[in-house]
Amino acid sequence: MILTLMGAPGSGKGTQGRQLARALGVAYVASGDLIRRAMAERTAWGEEVRSCIDQGLYVPDESIVPAFLSTLRASQAVSAVGAVLDGFPRTTEQASALDEASRSLGFSHQPVALVLEVPEDVLVSRLSGRWLCRGCHATYNVQSHPPHSAGVCDACGQALEQRVDDRRDTIQQRLAIFRDSTSPVLAFYGARGGLVRVDGNQSEQAVGAALLVAARSRASG
Ligand SMILES: [Zn+2]
Repeated sequence: MILTLMGAPGSGKGTQGRQLARALGVAYVASGDLIRRAMAERTAWGEEVRSCIDQGLYVPDESIVPAFLSTLRASQAVSAVGAVLDGFPRTTEQASALDEASRSLGFSHQPVALVLEVPEDVLVSRLSGRWLCRGCHATYNVQSHPPHSAGVCDACGQALEQRVDDRRDTIQQRLAIFRDSTSPVLAFYGARGGLVRVDGNQSEQAVGAALLVAARSRASG
């Protein structure tokens, strides 16, 4: 079965998706990983993606869909045991294409969307707390993982910086874009009873346990 994990920036989706896939014994396929790999390898698709990202745009459907679905089809793990997806589908067109791919892979259940719900003020506070070391790339969070002395990397002693993306003014904008772009996808899954909302505003362990319960109940139902 194919599950897609949805959640705003700061919802913990990346960490939870990997853990969920491991707990279920299925593959984990994240569009961000595919994109980073293609950009690092400087493939033609990677360069196309880079130009979208540089302009602050989502990668268009006609570009991401074939790349993502061919990765799913090529994976023996996915066809044998299913997958947890991250970052796909982002549009209803992508969701339809995923339905078709799921059928062609022989899954009897349609894909299901698990949605991590976290209040916006919590997301803003989580995201604006992120600091990064330019020297050794260590990351910190003033709430959940602060450095021992403020603004200084524990590991190498360099000054910590915030990414432009993690500044408070750009966070609101990122969250608004996320909300607008995902609401049609939520409606797509909701209309056929394929949407499960999970409270993402709890401890990491509690969120993980809730996701696992939701995923198992869908896979057996
Ligand atoms: Zn450092």
